[in-house]
Amino acid sequence: MIYIQHATVLTPHRQIDDGAVLIDGPQILAVGTADEISRPAGADEIDASGLILVPGFIDLQINGAFGHDFTADPASIWAVAAQLPRYGVTSFLPTIVTSPLETVAAAQEAVSRGSNYGSGGATPLGVHIEGPFLNPEKKGAHNPAYLRLPDPELVREWSSARGVRLVTLAPELPGALDLVAVLAKQGVVVSAGHSTATCREAEAGFDAGIRYGTHLFNAMPPLHHREPGLAGALLTDGRPVSGLITDGIHTHPSMIRLAWRALDGGSITLVTDAMAALGMAPGRHLLGDLDVVVDGQSARLLDGTLAGSIVSLDAALRNLIAYTGCSLAQALPAVTTTPAKLLGLEATLGRVAPRYLANLVLLTPELQVQAAIAKGQIVYEQSPG
Ligand SMILES: [Zn+2]
Repeated sequence: MIYIQHATVLTPHRQIDDGAVLIDGPQILAVGTADEISRPAGADEIDASGLILVPGFIDLQINGAFGHDFTADPASIWAVAAQLPRYGVTSFLPTIVTSPLETVAAAQEAVSRGSNYGSGGATPLGVHIEGPFLNPEKKGAHNPAYLRLPDPELVREWSSARGVRLVTLAPELPGALDLVAVLAKQGVVVSAGHSTATCREAEAGFDAGIRYGTHLFNAMPPLHHREPGLAGALLTDGRPVSGLITDGIHTHPSMIRLAWRALDGGSITLVTDAMAALGMAPGRHLLGDLDVVVDGQSARLLDGTLAGSIVSLDAALRNLIAYTGCSLAQALPAVTTTPAKLLGLEATLGRVAPRYLANLVLLTPELQVQAAIAKGQIVYEQSPG
């Protein structure tokens, strides 16, 4: 057992000053004030004085990190999983970009096979397949050679039971709405993205069961007052949740504020869309089978197209707070409860509460990650100095 005390706990809906959390195995056993929860004999003790205890972060879109690219090497999911807790991430969806269909199968297999790195790391909750049913006009950094038209035959094996959680497609493509129905039936959350959808086409997609928008504003037509497009539909419809990349490069801070106000904070998930160069020095790296140049702030194709970010999720969270002026408590659902709910995992993931998985992050007052606990194990500690 682990007994954490003297933390400011954000559950995230409730703040407990001088809080204590008792962890038993992979689960949280009790949460309360240090007066309410006493330390059982034999429990390891963590004094979290001056620190903020929050739920572990969930990233719904990450392409790789630390030199590994999930599309180029699906087996690298676990090597990255082992290191993600340094950014507060305890669960994530490894994202496979448009590629040969065998690559998706290899990623499904890698996730289901489990880790060779022991249990000490973040948990891949399943694969996010971004493509191949995307609009060529908004392909972004996706390799057009592998783009396909929607075809139910191609997604027969894409189910939550087989490790697929999220699929991004362009709802305006012929047959896309039928595919949404097929995927939803197979337990997959479907997202609209890399799309030229009009507002009406986007809303037809939401009617068909699309519940998420992939990196709002990026790879979709800009907001226009006579044709609000997919972005306008995501901001106003009320049903879908939207992913936002708050690296300060993919989306202007003013547009982040616009989205934050329009969606009232509650229908936003922060995603990193990070690529292999996250956690690495500037230089030339691989995304899928395309060359990408990293300059310390951004990652671009040789022609200048943005190719995924190099922002970490804890930095994305700090950026959201800086751009919108919201509090940590207001920002936290975007990396905890909202993504958990989107995936239907809200009963076990995303909160500091009894019977939830003991996925926890200790933050300094400056919101830097001091330590991370995944499934009840301390998997990261910032070394002193
Ligand atoms: Zn994308």
